[in-house]
Amino acid sequence: MTNIIIAIDGYSSTGKGTFAVEIARRLGLLYLDSGALYRTVTLYALQHGQIEWNGEILERRLQEDMLLGRIEISVLPKDDGSMRIFLGGEEVSAKIRELDVARNVSAIATIPFVRNFVDEQLHRLGAKGCVMDGRDIGTAVFPNADLKIFMTADAEIRAWRRVRQMEEAGQHPRFEEILKNVQERDYIDSHRAMNPLRKADDAIVLDNSHMTVAEQMVWLDGILRERFNLSVL
Ligand code: C5P
Repeated sequence: MTNIIIAIDGYSSTGKGTFAVEIARRLGLLYLDSGALYRTVTLYALQHGQIEWNGEILERRLQEDMLLGRIEISVLPKDDGSMRIFLGGEEVSAKIRELDVARNVSAIATIPFVRNFVDEQLHRLGAKGCVMDGRDIGTAVFPNADLKIFMTADAEIRAWRRVRQMEEAGQHPRFEEILKNVQERDYIDSHRAMNPLRKADDAIVLDNSHMTVAEQMVWLDGILRERFNLSVL
């Protein structure tokens, strides 16, 4: 039963990545961070002058590059269960976490041809079993996933988590700016026309505002044991 697909969706900075990586590592499954693919497309667009200073996206140029196969994305699993991501052969795992990318990624992710492009890659990479996190994995990318979890947490707690993460990466974010970014992304993600962020009908909700990763693992373990006779403890 190592080829199961676990879909983890939810709001920005709810700790989906941390949770998903830990599950993947403990179950020996591949971890795939779908947001990283949207971020990498955004980085490409920024690097190629396809996003104006006012946030306007030069969609035709981006689409042309996509159709011509110029946006080459690949991933490699790391020993700790996390994922490295490459754009045209160059590792961009750190660059895609910068604020410039975060500011523009949700707008990029509303574009249907971008979503189709990313979905194709996610299918190719994850069809044989994975833990995948994102916004529409259980509703659109893998609607038949074996297990769907929908994560949520208080917005301020999420912003603090992101601040700490960025500080650890050597950045100096302002809390108010990060909170605004988290709230804006929630809004855009939940209101876009194509595959908006929403809980799949058969997803189980996990509110981790006041839970540690260890407590989340215990919570998950009960579900995995009951449904698949698997354990993450
Ligand atoms: O998960 P992360 O915050 O890195 O994702 C970056 C952005 O990519 C999200 O804010 C969202 O706009 C978009 N995204 C998406 N669908 C997914 C994953 C991410 O629209 N499945």
